Amino acid sequence: MISIGVCAFAQPAANAPTTTAYANYIDEIIERDGLCVRRVEPVELVDVLADLKVLLTIGEGTLPESMTDWVAGGGRWISIAGVCGLPEVLGVEALPPAYALWGAGACTLGEGYLQPEPENHVLTEHIEIPLHFFNGIAARATTGKVIARCLSRHGKVTDRAGIVENRHGNGSALFIAVDVTGTIVRIQQGTPVTRDGAPSPDGTGPSSDNVLKSDDGQVLDWEFDRSVVPGAPGLMAFLHPVADMWREVIDRALLYCAREANAPLPLVWRWPRNLPAVAAMSHDSDLNEPENAALMLQTLKELGIRTTWCLMHPGLPAETVRAIESDGHELAFHYDAMSDGCPWSEEEFVRQYEGLRAEYGCSPVTNKNHYLRWEGDTEFYDWLIRRGFQMDQCKGASKTGEAGFNFGTTGPFFPVDKAGERLDVLEAPTITQDLCIFAPPEIAEPLRNAVLKSHGLLHHLFHPAHIAKPGVADALKACVNDARTAGMEWWTFARLNEWERARRMVRWTDCDSLVSETEIDDVAVLIPDDKGDTQRWGFTFRSSVISLKPGETAHLKQEQRQ
Ligand SMILES: [Zn+2]
Repeated sequence: MISIGVCAFAQPAANAPTTTAYANYIDEIIERDGLCVRRVEPVELVDVLADLKVLLTIGEGTLPESMTDWVAGGGRWISIAGVCGLPEVLGVEALPPAYALWGAGACTLGEGYLQPEPENHVLTEHIEIPLHFFNGIAARATTGKVIARCLSRHGKVTDRAGIVENRHGNGSALFIAVDVTGTIVRIQQGTPVTRDGAPSPDGTGPSSDNVLKSDDGQVLDWEFDRSVVPGAPGLMAFLHPVADMWREVIDRALLYCAREANAPLPLVWRWPRNLPAVAAMSHDSDLNEPENAALMLQTLKELGIRTTWCLMHPGLPAETVRAIESDGHELAFHYDAMSDGCPWSEEEFVRQYEGLRAEYGCSPVTNKNHYLRWEGDTEFYDWLIRRGFQMDQCKGASKTGEAGFNFGTTGPFFPVDKAGERLDVLEAPTITQDLCIFAPPEIAEPLRNAVLKSHGLLHHLFHPAHIAKPGVADALKACVNDARTAGMEWWTFARLNEWERARRMVRWTDCDSLVSETEIDDVAVLIPDDKGDTQRWGFTFRSSVISLKPGETAHLKQEQRQ
């Protein structure tokens, strides 16, 4: 029996103020982090509540009359951006709008930052900078203990609660004021790109350059969301994956409540063989110089890694591409909507894509646009999906001062359209470009550490066009070796795509059994255990590694006895 339920309430009627957006994105969070929880529809709650030990709700809705007694009897309730008519259980009071007028309703939280209280709590101990959010519900703590407060979007202290914990009888409630799902989607995808974005105030992120790129839609803050790059005076970068840290708030809240309620919450770990994180390298074929491509191939051979080559059409000589392929590297696509005669249009995208296929006889699954070009909202993902692409790298940094997680995540993640429907292409952001050219090599260490901490993907882009320049090859080698020393493996994006999709097909049928829809090896299952040797998200687990055939069910207790 899976005793942890997750319930997303429907949005209020059109024209009423909302405190949450993309509540169903909780499925992406659950799937990516392999959490053993069950989705419960609001209408089912009345029947299943008694079987649950932990319930997470998103938004405002009506809970069963038995809810108060359920918490008092030992249940753990996590409420995201909703009070659900039970402020005394949550230990908070919802604040009214500052002035009651036409169209009033819930007091929206707007944009701001979550500031954890100084005393450590497992929910917030991973948060190193005030955590940027977009909307939620404005509330103040009454009987509850404040774990984090809200700062305004200008960093000013407010009386608004961010996270509140409240004991209620034998159970407890966690109130998270922030619209966590809406925040994650907004940061990961940004806003639609129709004009240049506002550049950074220090000259290092001049996105106002008459070229529309994904960075023109980034929503993170140049001052509050960037940090100084140690060893590179004057340079600030997005060193903290803000959206991933919000995902982790959910993971930690569920793990914490599960432990309190003595409910099992095992995970299908993100990476095979319990790896802490994975690294991948891409190369864009700009300039198409065969000598530099050969030098890059030689460098990669010495390192023994396979990488992803994003190729332009027309591009490198066929024999160079054959050499890339025979060394085991991935042939990917580099759509050029930048050069003269190469407009941003689906027709042009298809012309270049078909040209590449004819030129090299390849069927790429991964794409990155030249200059990280981007226009519109999610239409480009539709172009990709229609041609069978499954992985994209267009969200990212095109200026030095944008380096790091300017879309708040290490990736990969599934984006959603305006209506919240999942788009079937994984986005793996380009967090930096050539070390020594685009960004100083000093940035490698904080990026690697952030990826390790969030157990994500370390994506380095190196252009063959720069490999012969002073320091670049050495920086590339150091970056590969340092990631290996830290326990990461180097994969192609095609492999990453295959793994991520296969792993998400391993599903919990009970808290001690899983079934897979596909053949998969090396799946790491993590079970909370204080005597274990694996630390993830503030908790201790023991791990076991299993292989599954399609339709096969694995029973964990039997696995552990072997
Ligand atoms: Zn390029």
